[in-house]
Amino acid sequence: MAENQTPDILYTKVDEAPELASASLLPIIRKFAAAAGIEVGTKDISVAGRILSTFPEYLKEEQRISDDLAELGELVKTPDANVIKLPNISASVPQLTAAIAELQAQGFAVPNYPEEPSTDEEKAVRAKYDAIKGSAVNPVLREGNSDRRAAKAVKNYAQKNPHSMGKWASDSKTKVSSMSDSDFFANEKSATITAAQAGDAKIEFVAKDGAVSVLKAGWPLEEGTVADATFMSVRALSAFLAEAIEDTKSDGTMFSLHMKATMMKVSDPIIFGYAVKAWLAPVFEKFGDEMAALGVNVNSGMGDLLERVKGNAEIMAAIEAVAAERPAMYMVDSDKGITNLHVPSDVIIDASMPAVIRAGGKGWDEKGQKGDTNCVIPDRCYATVYDEAINFFKANGALDPSTAGAVANVGLMAQKAEEYGSHPTTFEAPADGEIRVVLANGETLHSHAVEAGDIWRACTVKKAPIENWIQLALDRQRLTGSEAIFWLDSARAHDAQLIEYVKPALETAGVADKFQIMAPREATAQSLKTITAGADSIAITGNVLRDYLTDLFPILELGTSAKMLSIVKLMNGGGLFETGAGGSAPKHVQQLVAENHLRWDSMGEFCALGESFNFLADTKGNAKAGVLGAAAEAATQGILDFNRSPSRKVGEPDNRDSHYWFARYWAEALAAQSDYAALAAEFAPIAKALADGEEAILGELAAVQGVKVDLGGYFNTDPTKTAAVMRPSATLNAIIG
Ligand code: NAP
Repeated sequence: MAENQTPDILYTKVDEAPELASASLLPIIRKFAAAAGIEVGTKDISVAGRILSTFPEYLKEEQRISDDLAELGELVKTPDANVIKLPNISASVPQLTAAIAELQAQGFAVPNYPEEPSTDEEKAVRAKYDAIKGSAVNPVLREGNSDRRAAKAVKNYAQKNPHSMGKWASDSKTKVSSMSDSDFFANEKSATITAAQAGDAKIEFVAKDGAVSVLKAGWPLEEGTVADATFMSVRALSAFLAEAIEDTKSDGTMFSLHMKATMMKVSDPIIFGYAVKAWLAPVFEKFGDEMAALGVNVNSGMGDLLERVKGNAEIMAAIEAVAAERPAMYMVDSDKGITNLHVPSDVIIDASMPAVIRAGGKGWDEKGQKGDTNCVIPDRCYATVYDEAINFFKANGALDPSTAGAVANVGLMAQKAEEYGSHPTTFEAPADGEIRVVLANGETLHSHAVEAGDIWRACTVKKAPIENWIQLALDRQRLTGSEAIFWLDSARAHDAQLIEYVKPALETAGVADKFQIMAPREATAQSLKTITAGADSIAITGNVLRDYLTDLFPILELGTSAKMLSIVKLMNGGGLFETGAGGSAPKHVQQLVAENHLRWDSMGEFCALGESFNFLADTKGNAKAGVLGAAAEAATQGILDFNRSPSRKVGEPDNRDSHYWFARYWAEALAAQSDYAALAAEFAPIAKALADGEEAILGELAAVQGVKVDLGGYFNTDPTKTAAVMRPSATLNAIIG
C-alpha cells in the first residue's frame, strides 16, 4: 500500500475496557489481516486523544497529535470508509476534569477546564472543551442510519444458555414517575421546512423589555428538514421532583433518577442538578449563599458538592439531617456509598432502566438491600417505554430468554438527526421572555414564552436521512418478513412530521400493510407481546429510542447489549461497524487494576470484524477479505459454541483467553477453507502452533491473575505497561508477533 493512503480498515483507539481489550486483540487482527495484504490502521477518538489534539498550542512539539476525529469525520463521507468503532467515553464534566488532571500530571500542559469562564481566553478554552464533552464523537461519525440486531449465532446461544432474570411480582411497587405537563413532550412544536423557509435561521431570546439577543446565528435549515423546538419549565420540574421525593417516601420505595447526561450533554446535567437541589432543598434554603461561595455546582453531582462543603460542619450537619428525612436512595455502589446523585454520568437511563427491569424491578439501597424503586424520568417523550415494560412484566412475569424472539432496531441518526439537548441549540433561558426560531426569510417558525432557567432545545432531522431510514426499514422488513413498527406518536409534534414522510413512502412502495405506526407505549406493549410469543419485531425508531431500545431489548433477551451487531450503512457508500451497543464499562477497568482480570466480552468486536471484512470484499472486490470475514464468523461461532467468552471471576478465563480462542478458531477456519489455497497454507502452521501451544498459553494467561496491575494512567494509559498486562503469554506473542 502506498504511503499516506488510508488503510483498508480503521480500528478506533478508545477508552477504558474496550481499549484494554484492543491491546490484546488488535495485534491478532493485524497479523491475520496482513497475511491477506489488508492493512488495519487506527484512529484515536479517546477523551485523552481528543483533549491533546484540541490544544496543540499548549503542548511541546513532540507531544502534539493529529485530530483523528476530524479526519474520520471526513472519511465517513466517502465510499472508502470501513471503520470499526468501539465504544468510547462520552465525558461528563467530572470525567473531563479527571482526564485533564491526569494529562497535566503526565506532563501535558493542557489548560484547566474553566468552570466559570470570565476572560475571552477562558471562554475560548471552555468552548473547545465543551466540544469534547458528552456525545462528541458519534454524531461526527454517524453519516448513516443504524441497523442493530443480534447475529443469529448470538441469539441461538442466548436461547440455549439463558441468563438469569429477576422475578417480577404483580404487587411490585416499582414504577416510572414523570411530569404531567410543562415538559419537553408537552411544549414541542415541529415543522417541515419549505423551499421558501430554507436558509440560515437564528435562535433569539427576546427579553421582557423587547431587547433581542441572538443565541445562535447561521443555523442552516434545508428544505425538507424537520425542525423542532421545545422547552422544559424548571419551575414545574422543581415542583415535580419535590413531589416525587415525597411520593417515594410514602410508597416506601427508593428514589432513583434516570437521565442521559452524556448524550444530552447540555439539558440533562441541568435536570440532574435540579434533582440534587430538590433532594437537599432544606440545605439550599438555609446555606444557598455559602454553598455558592464554596463553588458548588449542582450539575456536577453530590460527590463534587460534598467535596466542596466538607470543611463546613454546619452544612454537613444540615445534609445529614436531610438524609435522615429522605426516602431510601437508589445506589450505584452501596459498599462505597456512591448514590444515584453522585455524578451525572453514573446512572445512564439506557443502561440503568434495563438493569432495574431485568432484576424484576429491583434496585439496591444504601444498606445494600434490594427493593422496589420509583424510577424518576421527568420528561415523557420516552419514559412511557419503561413504564409500559414495567406494567407488562408485572402482569405477565419476566421474559423467558430461552423462548423469546428478538427486537431488532432500525434507527434514524444520520447527520446529527434528533440530537436532543446535546448540541449548540440547547439553552437555559437567560431571563423571563421569549425564545424563538427566526427563519432566513424573517418568518418566526417556533416561539415559546419562557421563564429564567427554563431548558429550551431545538433539533433537526434532514430529509435525505429520513428517506434513507425509511428505505433501510423497508429492506430489513423485506429480508426478514418480521413484524415492523414505526415507533412514532401522532400526538407528538415531531413524530407527526415524520409520519408525514413515512405514510406516503409506504404507500408508494406498496407495503403499507406490512408496517404499523404506534406511539412508544403501544409499540412497547406490542413488541413485548410479539417476542414473548417467540416471534421477532423490528423497531423503527428515532435517534433516542435507537439508543435506549438497543440496550433494553438485548439486555432482556441476551443479558447484555455488548453482543449486538451494529451496522451503520453510511449514506455515501462506506461502512461503519460499531461494536456492540454497550459502553466502555469502567467497572471492568477497576477489576482489572485490582486483580488483573478483564471481564470485557469482545463479542461485539468479533461480530463487527466479520462484517467489516465482508464489506471490504463486497465493496472492493477483495476476495481474500471475504475469506477472512467468513473465517472470522466461524471463529465467532466457535467462541459461542464452546463457551469461550470471558468469565466474571478472577482466576477464571478472561478477555485475553477469549482472544486466544478467537485467534485459534480463526486460524483453523482459514486453514480449512479451500477458496484461497495460499491463505490456507499460510494459516495451517499458525493454527497448529496455536493448538500445540494451548496448555502453555492458557497457563501463562492464568498465572498473571489475582494481583494489582499498573497501567500508567486511566485515560491516557502507558502503551508499554498496557501491552505487558494485556499480552502476558510469551508463547502466544511468539506466534502472533
Ligand atoms: P456500559 O459501559 O455499557 O457498562 C455497563 C455495564 O454493562 C458494564 O459494567 C458491564 O456489566 C456491561 N457491559 C458493557 N459492555 C460489556 C462488554 N463488552 N462485556 C461485558 N459486559 C459489558 O455503560 P455505562 O457504565 O453507562 O457507560 C460507561 C461509559 O461508556 C460512559 O462514559 C459512556 O459515555 C460510554 N458509552 C459509550 C457508548 C458508545 O461509544 N457507543 C455507548 C454507551 C456508553 P458488568 O459490570 O455487570 O460486567
